[in-house]
Amino acid sequence: MKVTKAEFIISAVGPNQYPEDALPEIALAGRSNVGKSSLINRMISRKNLARTSSTPGKTQHMNYYRINDTMYYVDFPGYGYAKVSKVQRAAWGKMVEKYLAERETLKLVLLVVDLRHPPTADDRMMHEWLKHYDIPMCVVATKADKIPKTRLPRHIKIVKETLGILPGESFIPFSSELGLGRDELWSLIESRIAS
Ligand code: GDP
Repeated sequence: MKVTKAEFIISAVGPNQYPEDALPEIALAGRSNVGKSSLINRMISRKNLARTSSTPGKTQHMNYYRINDTMYYVDFPGYGYAKVSKVQRAAWGKMVEKYLAERETLKLVLLVVDLRHPPTADDRMMHEWLKHYDIPMCVVATKADKIPKTRLPRHIKIVKETLGILPGESFIPFSSELGLGRDELWSLIESRIAS
């Protein structure tokens, strides 16, 4: 997709603030600091529209970015940040669960993981959750530029095995630094939006 317009719309704290124009939504889930904002910025070829956060875990908001007046990227609050309290964690769970269960305009969730390390218990839980709700999903393994090329296949295997990704499930190695995986991910998103 050629991105001609990209706007930050709202940091929503609940459903009553979600946009009501019924445009298709592509949501991103992933650990704090995994690289979700950088991924959005790379996809839309903007340096800094999505905020790359220096204080992970602080946000409990759903950030909405409208692209070309035709779709939204929705950045979930990151999970897995140690300093988040139990109460905050529960609030996060409620918000995300409600969104996943009820948001009719949701077309695809990108589960963003770090290709350098095996997925965490939180990553595995998120993956299970998405499967449970039967939500179209693609695992995007980012920071691929930080791994020597010869070791990529091994890292890809570990991520797939740890999450239990089956053959045929969507999986894209990605680098926000280099743009690796960008075209493949856009193709997937466009086909989901058209469906
Ligand atoms: P978020 O909290 O998930 O939104 O993560 P950010 O997008 O803020 O990224 C966290 C840190 O990882 C930042 O310092 C980014 O520059 C860095 N980062 C994100 N993606 C990549 C990538 O693909 N390659 C490299 N080398 N660094 C990345």
